[in-house]
Amino acid sequence: AKELGGNRYEAYTERLNGDMYRRWTLEYELRRALERDELVLYYQPQVEAKGQAIVGVEALIRWHAKDGRIVSPAEFIPIAEETGLIVPIGEWVLRTACRQAVTWKKRGKPGVEMAVNVSPRQIRQDDFVERVKAILDETGMDPHDLQLEITESVAIEETNDAERKLAELKRLGIRLAMDDFGTGYSSLGYLQSFGVDTLKISQMFIRDVSGNESLAGIVRAIVAMATSLRLTIVAEGVEDQAQYEFLKSLGCDRIQGYYFHKPMPQQEIGKLFLESVS
Ligand code: C2E
Ligand code: CA
Ligand code: CA
Repeated sequence: AKELGGNRYEAYTERLNGDMYRRWTLEYELRRALERDELVLYYQPQVEAKGQAIVGVEALIRWHAKDGRIVSPAEFIPIAEETGLIVPIGEWVLRTACRQAVTWKKRGKPGVEMAVNVSPRQIRQDDFVERVKAILDETGMDPHDLQLEITESVAIEETNDAERKLAELKRLGIRLAMDDFGTGYSSLGYLQSFGVDTLKISQMFIRDVSGNESLAGIVRAIVAMATSLRLTIVAEGVEDQAQYEFLKSLGCDRIQGYYFHKPMPQQEIGKLFLESVS
């Protein structure tokens, strides 16, 4: 067993330094990953609850480190956000996702909406709208095929002018989704003031919804509210048939989850599309 020596303070600072060291190396490596093309996009299909046809995909970033490890965004996105690296990373994500969507469309797979996560830090840039426009121009992406996923944390920063910027993007035809609804500082007012079109029910509520009456009640209430606001409802993290049947019966429009499709690399999803085209 490890000798603690009774010096708790030492153990504590050691742990702190360990964390800081880890964060520092991660930041350094992440910067290089961006330069060396180690970042990859996976795409997870969203299916229509009724017909189960693929109607959209969400772009999800992965880091294929040179040691062969695939690093999850849950690990590096928070650090990218703190360091500001999320800005160049987020632009790379948007550009890559748009390019991919244009390619699929050219190859005969129309009608698939591309959903891209944007962090509050990106939206906070003064020229956020111009940057998005530039990427649309550069890639030939139709703004009507693009959905930006924002989180409730956008709303708590008051000085970033997010409302105006998002309204401008909406005028181009881009749609907005509120991600992980119900987990942050939700206010129904934000849905309206940001002009949100789609509400994504957090997998936190869905994971244990079967046999849990209070979770089922929350989900019912969210769906009822979203329906009366005429929002498109996406249920996330659907892993089994019971969850799927429940959400479909409530009137959820779209399902995203392992039960139907996991996030997959571009080649794999391309195959899936071609099968469904022919
Ligand atoms: P998110 O935006 O809520 O994305 C959904 C997450 O749920 C993804 O995790 C997806 O793989 C996972 N998921 C989907 N279906 C299921 C299911 O049935 N069961 C379970 N257990 N999980 C499911 P992932 O890809 O690890 O991403 C984690 C988070 O990292 C994302 O959560 C998002 O907040 C962030 N992220 C990922 N890519 C980007 C990006 O390009 N930009 C930004 N800013 N954030 C990103
Ligand atoms: Ca998302
Ligand atoms: Ca989510």
